[in-house]
This record gives sequence, structure tokens and C-alpha cells, in this order.
Amino acid sequence: MDCNAKIFVAGHRGMVGSALVRKLELAGYRNLVLKTSSELDLRNQAAVTSFFEQEKPDYVFLAAARVGGIIANSTRKAEFLYDNLMIQTNVIHEAWRNNVKRLLFLGSTCIYPKFAPQPIRETDLLTSPLEPSNDAYAIAKIAGIVQCRSYNQQYGTRFLAAMPNNLYGPGDNYDLTGSHVLPALLRKFHEAKQFGSPNVTVWGTGTPLREFMHVDDLADASLFLMLLEDEYYESLLTYSDAPALINVGSGQEISIANLARMVQHVVGYEGELAFDTDKPDGTPRKLADSSRLHALGWKHRIELEDGVRDAYRWYLHNKVDC
Ligand code: GDP
Repeated sequence: MDCNAKIFVAGHRGMVGSALVRKLELAGYRNLVLKTSSELDLRNQAAVTSFFEQEKPDYVFLAAARVGGIIANSTRKAEFLYDNLMIQTNVIHEAWRNNVKRLLFLGSTCIYPKFAPQPIRETDLLTSPLEPSNDAYAIAKIAGIVQCRSYNQQYGTRFLAAMPNNLYGPGDNYDLTGSHVLPALLRKFHEAKQFGSPNVTVWGTGTPLREFMHVDDLADASLFLMLLEDEYYESLLTYSDAPALINVGSGQEISIANLARMVQHVVGYEGELAFDTDKPDGTPRKLADSSRLHALGWKHRIELEDGVRDAYRWYLHNKVDC
């Protein structure tokens, strides 16, 4: 991928897309194609077709998606299914029609079965039922993976799907009805400290385990994958079991209760934690086996507590916009 290659970052306003843009710009890539959703609605097939025919990107990072936390996923399933299916179907199809050299499709480890053996390998996909709270999102993303595989197989494309674990960082969603746990806790502890509230409510039992990764590490891994030498990239596409699919994890697993204590410490809140067990826990554990990626020489750099501090700094500077 030379510095003048035309690179389309789909979803560049989101947390993942904006991290990708920062990373690519820092690495010297000058020819980025970026469109807001009002300039280009990726759910609109005709619009995506004419965009690709006009722009002819060489590489695509597909980070545009409808995403959200456990409540958003379980109460707005129609949107999660429709928007994700439409976006990815259009983009992947047009990437093939317009001879895109490589495409990286980003999803999440929510695609794996609820009770997958831990750590979860790429080969665990579709081996048992999904976690019901986010099955619509998961089914849409699984369709995208199968689309990448099918196009590679039938048309000889070189499309790869990367599944990061729970992401956080600058640009995260701090709206408590739609957000994931880490930004939600940062905001709750911050506001409780500010208003002197005696306790902060943490959803669920606090026992589920989650693996967190700073979005800058995901951006780094994404560029690493896009730049892999042909021989290694090809080997990812042609694995006999679970081809064209790679986990991107940090291995930094922590219980929700301990995460809450870490966020409490970073924010400097001195009140109590209260667990609301009427709220869902979701899947009990979700640790990705990232050995495929590690074997290629990539490892995360940002440790969780440092990352939480970084996210909190971003929140403090940007919270008026939430
Ligand atoms: P998940 O990883 O797909 O389940 O998505 P979330 O990040 O939304 O939730 C992870 C875990 O954190 C679940 O067990 C939630 O019940 C728990 N959790 C605790 N407090 C909160 C909160 O304030 N917001 C969210 N979204 N989750 C919370």
C-alpha cells in the first residue's frame, strides 16, 4: 500500500473509523476518501454503486456499522440487523465490482456463540447458539464474514474480516442508553463525583468477564493486517477452517465489577457501587484467542488502566458534545 494509494475509510466519523484515519495519516497516507453518512448513505445501493464507480478506491477499511451496548442491541434489533446488512452488502459487493485490492471488514467478538469455549477461536464461529441480547447484530456481522469468504472463493477477491473485542477510547459513545460499559461507567462515576451522589449503579451482577482493547490498538492492528506481505495475508484468507477471519484481542480480561473499581479509581470517586441485577449480564465471558494475529508478530500496546485514563481525558474535553 503506497502512500498515494486511494484508501476508503467507511465510517470515519465513528470511534473506529476516526482512529483508523489518525493512524493512516500519521503513517503518511495522503489519499484518504472520507464521506459522512449525509454525503453518502452506505445503506443506499445506488449511492454506493456510483460512489465506487467514481472514486475507484484501491483499499477499503469497512468500519461503518450500527453499534451499541447491551440495551441498544436488545431493544433496537431491527435497526442493528437492517443497517449492518445493507452497509456491508453494498460496500463489499462494490469493492469486488471495482477491483479493490484488499478490504478489511470490522466486526466484533459478539459474533461468537454465547457459551463458546474460552478463549474463543475463529473456528468457534457458528458452533452453538448466540447470545440472544445481540443476536441481530451478530447475524448481520456473520453474514458479512460469509460474504467476504464467498467473494474470495468465487471471485478471487482478498477480503478479510477482523473481530476485535470490546473497544473503547477517544470518540466513544457516552449516551447512557446506547453506550457500552466502559464509557457508561466513566460518565456515571464522573457525574456522581461532580454531584456528590452516594453511589453509582453498575448493571448486572458484575461477574461477567470482558476483554477490552483501546481503539488505537485496533487501528494499529488493522493497518498491520492491511500491510501484511502477500504470503502471510494469503494464508489468512485460505485457512482450511475459518478462512478470512481473524480475532484482534488484547488478552486484557477483567470482571465488570473490577472494571468498575478501576474506573472509579481513575475518576477519583469515593462513593459506593450498587449492582442492579434487573439489568442483563449478557454473555458470561468473551475472551478472544488472538493467537493467529500474535503469530504474525502483532501485539497490543496500551494497557487497560492507561487506556481508561486516556478515554477519561477525551471525555473531559468533549463531554459538552455528548
Ligand atoms: P456486551 O459486552 O456486548 O455485553 O456489551 P456492554 O458493554 O453493553 O456490557 C458489558 C457488561 O457490562 C454487561 O454485563 C453489562 O450488564 C455490564 N454493565 C454494567 N454497567 C453497565 C452500563 O452502565 N452500561 C452498559 N452498557 N453495560 C453495563
